Amino acid sequence: ADRIVVKIGTSTLIRQNSKINLNVIKELAKVLSTLKKDGKDVVLVSSGAIGVGMGVLGIDKRPIKISKQQAVAAVGQAELMQIYNEAFHEYGMSVAQMLITRDIIDYPESHTNVMNSFQELLSMDNAIPIVNENDTVTVSELDHHTKFGDNDQLSAIVTNLVDADLLIMLSDIDGFYSANPLKVPDAHLVSQIDTIGPTIIAAAGGHGTKYGTGGMTTKLKAAERILKHNQQMVLTNGKNPDIIFNILSGDPVGTLFA
Ligand code: ADP
Repeated sequence: ADRIVVKIGTSTLIRQNSKINLNVIKELAKVLSTLKKDGKDVVLVSSGAIGVGMGVLGIDKRPIKISKQQAVAAVGQAELMQIYNEAFHEYGMSVAQMLITRDIIDYPESHTNVMNSFQELLSMDNAIPIVNENDTVTVSELDHHTKFGDNDQLSAIVTNLVDADLLIMLSDIDGFYSANPLKVPDAHLVSQIDTIGPTIIAAAGGHGTKYGTGGMTTKLKAAERILKHNQQMVLTNGKNPDIIFNILSGDPVGTLFA
């Protein structure tokens, strides 16, 4: 794969005690910078703005009010980008913040602008685009007109847009299981999925952590979009981002959607 999109979830970035997992970010910066230097095109889609904002502001429950979530996300986004920037600078890379909304699908002019920005950024030797949804502009969790819904689907849309070879989705679990392992301890890892049928959908249980949002349901929706475009997605554990190297060398890792 020469062009890859990596999505990292909140549950990987934020520890249960509200502290950001700096080691993961540092490791991710190392891996993605190495790939970039090897001539690969890399885009990162990062969640975590609300979780980081909660830590910064000393809030321990995710706010229910949308406007509060938007405010917390705005605080967290700035902090998160600062942390990424520092981590990537270690490897001579700068980060490019791309906050996008559904407008890029609905309005041709927005679509063109985002495509042009991606193209320019990907042609640079030392810039890594980091994408997130623009939470202050998107209206609400329920408003499907303006909101992607979650970064899982956003990352699939980005993968389609930049015509990447592969989407690597880093979560807090080793892959897709036959049932939610938190509830069914003897559930087994499914190594490859080529169709998102009813059995697979039924196997996606609720979400496990206090910070994670979409659980498996939104990951399956993302996978569906990827498969529809004849692209590939690997879902795996992000605790050691080095695993990206294994994926790219073709080792069987996590769940491959192809
Ligand atoms: P992220 O923050 O990485 O997006 P989430 O917390 O939203 O991750 O989703 C991952 C969680 O989904 C897992 O920790 C697990 O508890 C839950 N889950 C539900 N059903 C399944 C399944 N069939 N296989 C794997 N995980 C599942």
